[in-house]
Amino acid sequence: MRAQVGIVGAGPAGLTLAHLLHREGIESVVLEDRGREHVEQRLRAGVLEQAIADLLVDAGAGERLRREGIVHHGIELQFDSERHRIPLSDLTGGRAIVVYGQTEIVKDLIRLRVDADLPLLFDVSDVSVHDLESERPSIRFSHDGGEQILECDVVAGCDGYHGVCRPSIPAGVLSEFSREYPFGWLGILAAVPPSNDELVYSHHERGFALLSLRSPELSRLYVQCRPDEDLAEWPDARIWEELQLRLGLEGWTLAEGPILEKGVTGMRSYVAEPMRFGRLFLAGDAAHIVPPTGAKGLNLALHDVRLLAEALTSWYRSDSSELLDGYSDACLRRVWRAEHFSWWMTSLLHRFDSADDFDLKLQLSQLRYVTSSIAAATSLAENYVGIERV
Ligand SMILES: Cc1cc2nc3c(=O)[nH]c(=O)nc-3n(C[C@H](O)[C@H](O)[C@H](O)COP(=O)(O)OP(=O)(O)OC[C@H]3O[C@@H](n4cnc5c(N)ncnc54)[C@H](O)[C@@H]3O)c2cc1C
Repeated sequence: MRAQVGIVGAGPAGLTLAHLLHREGIESVVLEDRGREHVEQRLRAGVLEQAIADLLVDAGAGERLRREGIVHHGIELQFDSERHRIPLSDLTGGRAIVVYGQTEIVKDLIRLRVDADLPLLFDVSDVSVHDLESERPSIRFSHDGGEQILECDVVAGCDGYHGVCRPSIPAGVLSEFSREYPFGWLGILAAVPPSNDELVYSHHERGFALLSLRSPELSRLYVQCRPDEDLAEWPDARIWEELQLRLGLEGWTLAEGPILEKGVTGMRSYVAEPMRFGRLFLAGDAAHIVPPTGAKGLNLALHDVRLLAEALTSWYRSDSSELLDGYSDACLRRVWRAEHFSWWMTSLLHRFDSADDFDLKLQLSQLRYVTSSIAAATSLAENYVGIERV
């Protein structure tokens, strides 16, 4: 097999990259080690920066997003039994966020690729990448019982944090930066209309909680928990009880409904630098992870592949490697901004076991500042909707 670009991973990064390249006339093959159904059902992010929603729409992949995506102009922060609205759009010259599930983006992109009869292979195994420092890198894999080799000009490592691309880079090349958090999120998807028009981030003495949504009929809710929390200890009734306590307000009720799905996600910050080794380019979670509090993971992945698609297009058209050579640095500027914002939101809103009253007072003071000072609220807002120029 031969393609200009070999893409490992059919998550949002790999699928979007393949789509953007196709529109520029660049051929790619996407290799995914899970089945189509699994990839389409995997419940993850759901908040898009406006620039990312626009990217998908402008690229012809946002027809359903435009119809079904829910535009939000603000979020709410809750602490000390009060809610305070951060008017995102008022503070950022009219920019907003769009609520549209990652699962839906992935379904839309897969459908476009399958309808166009472009190569996208699910259920591949034993994927490995080779000759990355040469002009003819290759990807070996097994599919349908046979071993195959895909030869390409460039390999895009879009295979997430646990993929094979980043670990294939020789020791000593990458610098890695990370932080583990002593908690995780227990998240549920519930068949009940969201109880609030906008997302609610709640700071509470029992731990953080988030009220979010996936559609007018589906609520997505989270409570801070231990990173190794045993779901067996969380029957549905206990989850609702905890959500009621942490999100509850006088005169407001959290509506309950059947829980369709539940899971625990650990929290980590991680960056690998540079995001390139020879002809291998890393994008998305393969290169960086953020805790989900800032809603940045999916957005960062798509910012990366937008830059990678532009750089590859320029390289093929003009034979100039300037953008490819600048790819890693350009991505990392945004990555570190998002790393800081995600760490800051996480530190502001969660309860740390090690925290004493001094830490708690600092959190509350900062929350009051962010919700009463236009300067502080604007800083949060512009990071949340996505900084235009980093
Ligand atoms: C459980 C969970 C919940 C999350 N919740 C949120 C959230 O609420 N908000 C938010 O902003 N972000 C969230 N994130 C982060 C967000 O979903 C990711 O940042 C986003 O998925 C990154 O996209 P990606 O394409 O880079 O990586 P991924 O989505 O991880 O895609 C990588 C793809 O590569 C495939 N793959 C892996 N190894 C191989 C291999 N060897 N060969 C071939 N294919 C391979 C995987 O199966 C996968 O399909 C969450 C992440 C997780 C794991």
